[in-house]
Amino acid sequence: MSDLYHLTASEVTNGIKEGSFRAEDYISQILQRIEKIDLKINSFINVYKERALKEAIALDKKIKQGLEVGRLAGVAVGIKDNICTKDMKTTCASKMLENYTPPYDATVVEKLRRSGAIIVGKLNLDEFAMGSTTQFSIYGPTRNPWDTAYVPGGSSGGSASSVAAFECAVSLGSDTGGSVRCPSSFCSVVGLKPTYGLVSRYGLISYANSLEQIGPIGKNVSDIVMTMNVIAGNDDKDHTTVDRKPEYFLEHKKNVNIGLVKELIQAADPAVAKCIYSAVDLFIESDYICEEISLKSAEYAVASYYTIAMAEASSNLARYDNIRYGYDSSPDGYEWNTYYAKVRGNFGEEVKRRILLGSYVLSSRYYGKYYLKAQKIRSLLEQELNSLYDKYDVLISPTMPILPFKFDEKIEDPLTLYKIDINTVVANLAGIPAISIPAGFNNGLPIGLQIMAKELQEQTLLNVAFEYENRANIKRSPQL
Ligand code: GLN
Repeated sequence: MSDLYHLTASEVTNGIKEGSFRAEDYISQILQRIEKIDLKINSFINVYKERALKEAIALDKKIKQGLEVGRLAGVAVGIKDNICTKDMKTTCASKMLENYTPPYDATVVEKLRRSGAIIVGKLNLDEFAMGSTTQFSIYGPTRNPWDTAYVPGGSSGGSASSVAAFECAVSLGSDTGGSVRCPSSFCSVVGLKPTYGLVSRYGLISYANSLEQIGPIGKNVSDIVMTMNVIAGNDDKDHTTVDRKPEYFLEHKKNVNIGLVKELIQAADPAVAKCIYSAVDLFIESDYICEEISLKSAEYAVASYYTIAMAEASSNLARYDNIRYGYDSSPDGYEWNTYYAKVRGNFGEEVKRRILLGSYVLSSRYYGKYYLKAQKIRSLLEQELNSLYDKYDVLISPTMPILPFKFDEKIEDPLTLYKIDINTVVANLAGIPAISIPAGFNNGLPIGLQIMAKELQEQTLLNVAFEYENRANIKRSPQL
């Protein structure tokens, strides 16, 4: 049986249900693929081989007996390692949680399991999801499958690279300021950040909870729809979830008004901008109306995002004192402050920087100057977007303003790295949905198109993405 590992989620589950191949054959191929490829790209922190095979065999048995199976039956799924999985370590790529095995599944994981998906392993990330390159991980960097000298984007680098390299069909990432979309763009796969509250965050280890959402990554828009139909919807365990259970589908949508965000394309690398203008041409061929529009407050989005994200991070990460859980270092004989300082020294540099800056912007003296101002910009941005959505169904831009870059190229100054998040943080600040979809290549390096819609307008967003996917018809695979 040749090359089952490259199948999309819908091909896998249909094939298994129709009896074209067994889940066991497919999962064995996926596991062999991981064994061969992951030495080169390091997508996975942990792989659960025996457990995955056992689940596949049990599924085959169920199908043989004519029992009903779920809508993702047999699909190999990878989960970012900041989403809790029962009996599977969940490390956040941090020394702090190196030995942590959650006693429960995140709601999204529970839903995936119930739908018959097979979780093959946990995926690499920047420590606590803070970063855009997946090089700040205690397990070493993940590499871009298109060229291993380049970063895969981040922080869900493992989630995007594993899908791009055919190590799993679908994965989950988390997106606080672009962490699903940035690596999806850099690895040429599709990644969605849903509307705030559409997908439960119960079991997601918090970085900045007013901004983040769990989102799916897949090879095409159809697999994103399939996964969303399993994971989206109300959850009693997360009171920020919306009270609905959507069922998405794909159809050709007519009469779409698109706004191309001037500020986000003008600042982009010329090769990236050129590719996005070609996307506009394709939309025009679909008889969509495309106009250049201005989003003035975008200029302040990065400053606002990092102020809020760091403030929330400093609060969320206060719990890691190595006493309730952590790595092995006994508090015996220590006075509290000395012990606390010692153990928290084990966070990586980037995490420490954010805790320090976050505490600073929240301190009583500077609260008004930084945190409050950042929240005001956030409201301004929301208002500006709302008035744009009165006229436009979706807004488009490049997902990332630059092409993937080589390791160590942009980390000498943290601000340089923060600034490349300008196009993605807008959607997190406003709580709106945004998708990244492959748009082309420059010198073999992927470029992504970002489409943003009004809150809870995922259906429109997915239809427009689907239209583009069909028109652009990009069919390339990384050679590994
Ligand atoms: N790069 C952004 C940051 O470092 C986004 C991270 C994310 O979405 N988790 O905060």
